[in-house]
Amino acid sequence: MAEMLAARLHIPSREVRVEEVPVPEPGSGQARVEVRAAGVCLSDVHLTDGTLTPRLLKGDVVTLGHEVSGVIDALGAGVTGWAVGDRVVLQAGEADGSGTRGVDFDGGYAEYTLATPRSLVPIPAGLPFEQACIIPDAVSTPWAAISATAAVRPGEAVAVWGIGGLGAHAVQLLRLIGAAPVIAIDPLPAARARGISAGADAVLDPADPRLREIVSTMTGGQGLDAAFDFAGVAAAREQAMLLLGKGGRLIVVGLANGPLTVPNDIALAYFGQSVRGHYGSHPDHLHQLIGLSVRGRLDLAGSISDVLPLAEAPVALGRLARKEGDPVRLILRP
Ligand SMILES: [Zn+2]
Repeated sequence: MAEMLAARLHIPSREVRVEEVPVPEPGSGQARVEVRAAGVCLSDVHLTDGTLTPRLLKGDVVTLGHEVSGVIDALGAGVTGWAVGDRVVLQAGEADGSGTRGVDFDGGYAEYTLATPRSLVPIPAGLPFEQACIIPDAVSTPWAAISATAAVRPGEAVAVWGIGGLGAHAVQLLRLIGAAPVIAIDPLPAARARGISAGADAVLDPADPRLREIVSTMTGGQGLDAAFDFAGVAAAREQAMLLLGKGGRLIVVGLANGPLTVPNDIALAYFGQSVRGHYGSHPDHLHQLIGLSVRGRLDLAGSISDVLPLAEAPVALGRLARKEGDPVRLILRP
């Protein structure tokens, strides 16, 4: 039986080992994808440090990787509409209830991986695999939060708390959709620098005593139309809610696993403000982002901080855990 390289998380020890495993055979209704690029996400780090644990995984070993692009290499029985050689990106989850790729079942930190056709989205030749693989999750989650959950309209004043991988893309996408001003807020200087590169009109430290005054001046005294919490920090949410204007909405994306406090119910009621939760994205969002990338509206080249060989998956996870070089996205290439 043919073997391949895979970076596998052993749950009991939380160790990631690069191992030789059999190349998976596509079953009925499955496609096998030869992986060309896989994004290293903070949730992969959280799986290795024990913050996250797979809920649906059978057994106690899983191949990591939920941001995956590649080429269809074999088709199982009954798969129509796809051909060997098609360039694809894989959705992070499978709609059949099996959960999240690279968490609940084997993902793309491998030379080959399996997917159902419903989770495949075609990518044109003009879009590099490294850029395509980060669209599910790192780009599509903020895009869905902005375009669907918050329904941001051109000219609206917005702010983003937490300028990591998702937050930096949120800044870039808010600028693309025509929000103004776009304000990026993060306590770390390196993250604020990322906010500037992503196109923020202003970057602020949440501890800045003039923050409220600056936001008020920048919004002509109207306050924010939309605020996004990618940090998952209670203090950030309270700060955000106090800066909302009439009809302002706070979109909670980052998870704090704790209570959510509304600092002032009068503003919430009187100004018709709201708080909404957001998780993930739909296939439509991937199609939209691929279109925006291919037509030159959205440049993801700057999001690729480095490309490492698959065998260096543990190195890449360590670099992201330590925020070494402040990467937006590290990519593994089999
Ligand atoms: Zn991710």
